[in-house]
Amino acid sequence: MKITDVELIRFRLPTFSHGTKWGYGVDGEEHDGVQSLTKIVTDDGVEGYATGGVHSYFYGASEDEIERLVKPLLVGQDPLDRGLLWEWMKANRGFSEALVGNIDSALWDLAGRAAGQSVASLMGRVRTKARAYASTAPNIGSPDDYVKLALESRDRGYTAFKIHAYIYADPSSLNPTPGKPASPKADIEVCEAVYAAVGDSMDLMLDPWGVYSLQESLMVGREIERMGFYFFEHPMDERAVEPYRRLSAELEIPICGPELAAGMHYSRAEWVAQKATDIGRIDVNFGGLTACRRAVDMYESFGLPCEMHVGGFGNAAILGSTSQETCEFFERGLLYPSNHPLGDYDKTPLYLKAPCDPMDDEGNVLLPQGDGLGFEFDWDFINENRI
Ligand SMILES: [Mg+2]
Repeated sequence: MKITDVELIRFRLPTFSHGTKWGYGVDGEEHDGVQSLTKIVTDDGVEGYATGGVHSYFYGASEDEIERLVKPLLVGQDPLDRGLLWEWMKANRGFSEALVGNIDSALWDLAGRAAGQSVASLMGRVRTKARAYASTAPNIGSPDDYVKLALESRDRGYTAFKIHAYIYADPSSLNPTPGKPASPKADIEVCEAVYAAVGDSMDLMLDPWGVYSLQESLMVGREIERMGFYFFEHPMDERAVEPYRRLSAELEIPICGPELAAGMHYSRAEWVAQKATDIGRIDVNFGGLTACRRAVDMYESFGLPCEMHVGGFGNAAILGSTSQETCEFFERGLLYPSNHPLGDYDKTPLYLKAPCDPMDDEGNVLLPQGDGLGFEFDWDFINENRI
């Protein structure tokens, strides 16, 4: 089998996201965004896909990258030489880790389709469902609004709830505040309110998305440690490792990260060596399923769990082929209260016929079991909205 072409399919998809201003997404009026599929074509007729763009968090390759970098490397090659192609992409400094991730994901999808198996099965399936946590959007309102969402999440079946409180926004006005991204005291008020409402029946986590200082992390970490929070995720900028080493040494509550650090599984191994984290973190934007597989196996070998960052089909395949002890949760979100325009997370995205993460009443995501990564695209919608 040989790769004959790599295509980028771009189409309009309604979104509320207006991208990032100073590091975090800003929602506003609904408008058309761009979603894309990277499609790898072979002479056997087998295809492989990866998604990117405005839906969810996955990197969409650009036309320029496909023409200039991807096609010269891939066309003419056997797509089942996935490991070799990964080495070539990694060695080519033009490829970002996210682009490696996008192409590697499509190659895994293709391999699964060629074998008539799910990618989780190719990797060695361990389970078909995974425990979900409700992952809140940041800046959704007052502590009462977070409590409302926590109660709604518990009613929906969730057994765990992760708070993104006030990130680059003033807690009272919710207006963006680039000069003061962190509001640790207001974040503690949210945590206290949610803990009082559902702390007896849900595992709780906090993710300040890297905006705290070390002192703020220690102060907030001690408070949520007292409340028995399950983990404390990505509290500080992950470009500095030493503050994480000190934080992990000072606190009992498990510290989860790095989420955004460059370096795929290699940098994560350094974090483990530095004892800078208690629970690992990665997603397929960092070198694809190949790098994620290596990361979770590395963490498992050191007796550490690894929480996959965000949902999506690629991360779901990693969850399906690892034990609950290593990758416990599927991150479902970002969630808004039911009265918000984005309040119905269970609605299937328009370009798909089935979501990647349907959830049962006990708070478990039923992982995709279709061939490859399990995509079921709505080609009518995609073709009608093609750019
Ligand atoms: Mg996070």
